[in-house]
Amino acid sequence: MKRFFVKNIYRLLLNRIYNPFIETNLKPLELNLTPEDKCLVIAPHPDDESIGCGGIMKLHPKNFDVTCLTHGNINDIRFEEMQHAMEFAGVNSYKMLNLKDKNIIAGQSEFNTIDISQYDYIFIPYIFDQHRDHKAVSLLLANKLQKSRYKSTLQIAYYEVWSTINLPQYYVNISNVIEDKKKMINFHKSQIATRNYAEKILGLNSYRGLLRGLEAVECFSIMNAADFTRIVKRLTTGITE
Ligand SMILES: [Zn+2]
Repeated sequence: MKRFFVKNIYRLLLNRIYNPFIETNLKPLELNLTPEDKCLVIAPHPDDESIGCGGIMKLHPKNFDVTCLTHGNINDIRFEEMQHAMEFAGVNSYKMLNLKDKNIIAGQSEFNTIDISQYDYIFIPYIFDQHRDHKAVSLLLANKLQKSRYKSTLQIAYYEVWSTINLPQYYVNISNVIEDKKKMINFHKSQIATRNYAEKILGLNSYRGLLRGLEAVECFSIMNAADFTRIVKRLTTGITE
């Protein structure tokens, strides 16, 4: 009886989940923001906002507010650089908090001061990003969501910086703003002194365009706030609260 049950569960899983998955070409769908959508980009450090979301922000600047969590390690210079990039993009607003670089995980109380109640989308770095501060944003946000008021339709969107997203579900065509995105990244002069971020990131955006036959796209993984919180909590149980 038990063996019969197990065998049929596997058959069910195979039919319902694996077969449709393996027989389908998975292509990301276009993310269409409406003029009313209010979006917040949370950047762990100045430059992450331009690297991960420079294109979508330049296409829809009035939809976007940006909150950067740390000054990075060179204080005022990096705020000025971000200021230039955000003024050029024309975003609705931008600000910088004072969490500690390389230890933003310890900054939950300051993170909790961010007002998320009005937003339809919150953009953050991918949870499997290689940088510790980038991964930490998922946990800070999941902790905050458990205690904050937010729209029931709120979506959390992962963007790409130090790691790529497996099977991203959404893309935004940034072909017409490639040069603008390059400028935004290059405003972060202290960061591009030793690394050509613009060239590398636009290489990723160009590769991402391959699936949809476009010159360049930014890719995102998007889920609702409840699923996001559940997934982050499962992944991080026992790490820290
Ligand atoms: Zn960063």
